[in-house]
Amino acid sequence: METPGSQTSLHRANLERVVRAVRMAGSLTQAEIARTTGLSAATVSNIVRELKDGGTVEVTPTSAGGRRARSVSLSGSAGIVIGVDFGHTHLRVAVGNLAHQVLAEEAEPLDVDASSAQGFGRAEELVTRLITATGIARDKVIGVGLGVPGPIDVESGTLGSTAILPGWTGINPREELSGRLGVPVYVDNDANLGALGELVWGSGRGVKDLAYIKVASGVGAGLVIDGQIYRGPGGTAGEIGHITLDESGPVCRCGNRGCLETFTAARYVLPLLQSSHGADLTMERVVQLAREGDPGCRRVVADVGRHIGSGVANLCNLLNPSRVVLGGDLAEAGELVLGPIRDSVSRYAIPSAARQLSVLPGALGGRAEVLGALALVLSEMGDSTLLESALPAGAPAFT
Ligand SMILES: [Zn+2]
Repeated sequence: METPGSQTSLHRANLERVVRAVRMAGSLTQAEIARTTGLSAATVSNIVRELKDGGTVEVTPTSAGGRRARSVSLSGSAGIVIGVDFGHTHLRVAVGNLAHQVLAEEAEPLDVDASSAQGFGRAEELVTRLITATGIARDKVIGVGLGVPGPIDVESGTLGSTAILPGWTGINPREELSGRLGVPVYVDNDANLGALGELVWGSGRGVKDLAYIKVASGVGAGLVIDGQIYRGPGGTAGEIGHITLDESGPVCRCGNRGCLETFTAARYVLPLLQSSHGADLTMERVVQLAREGDPGCRRVVADVGRHIGSGVANLCNLLNPSRVVLGGDLAEAGELVLGPIRDSVSRYAIPSAARQLSVLPGALGGRAEVLGALALVLSEMGDSTLLESALPAGAPAFT
């Protein structure tokens, strides 16, 4: 029996701290593990040796700051995690291991809104094909991270607003996919997964406080506070698209007027250019034309940037993030949109709230959400499976 505060439970807690740190970072030197966990170098060294002997971690020689060091990562053979990302018009699946290596990945166009049954059917097929391609046994799957393009109630796993995915009415995406695949499924919205993806693999590496802004059919933010996604009790945190910018502006789909979304989302922005640039314009094309020097498109992209910057300034005043990462097609505009975002932030945010802020484009492009889905499993899976297999019952404890 383990009693709280006993030598055994203390040891167990230390093991979990080390495994959790490595699980989220991919690989860390022993010095970095000590810094992250607050454990002493000697304790970390003992725990790493124990985890290595049990097959939970792998240790490889590396160098840190010109000195020899040992890089610790979870064993690549300890299990695999799967990411499934539904966009409105695509499905993307990735398979990764616990050492943060992506082993297989594939995307295909799909009218996701039309039918949930068709969407989940395609996802099941793609997952099965990719697992087979990696040659890893199916029973090594620890869990699946699932991204949906709309607000989701994280507790129940149901979609918050069926207006966003009309073909998905009455569907519980988590139960639907775990029923088909027979493994635990963790679900979140695309903005939160984009934030996690950039945090673990992309432009957010090394920071603990981050906002990921995604402008697509709507505008949303994924918020990372102290290394954790902040969802709020209803899962609605980060809806910056409905910050009011102009009380007498256009009527928004939420019923208010002049929301940030009405100055930045494609369906409000594209009509500004359609009389001069044609009716079949897309945001992707606007960004491309802006990069080629088209003055109208440059003006529109800059205006979108200024308005996003107003929202980001509000975020800075509330949350003081150290990094803002812009995702989606708009990030392809680079400085044409990032410059105006920074201008608005320096105009509207309290200087101390924005002093340490860097505004960067996403590094992962359209992969941010599916990699975030892998990160979601890594973040939620817990350590018991890993430690149970590594530690036989009654194993001697030493710290
Ligand atoms: Zn609104």
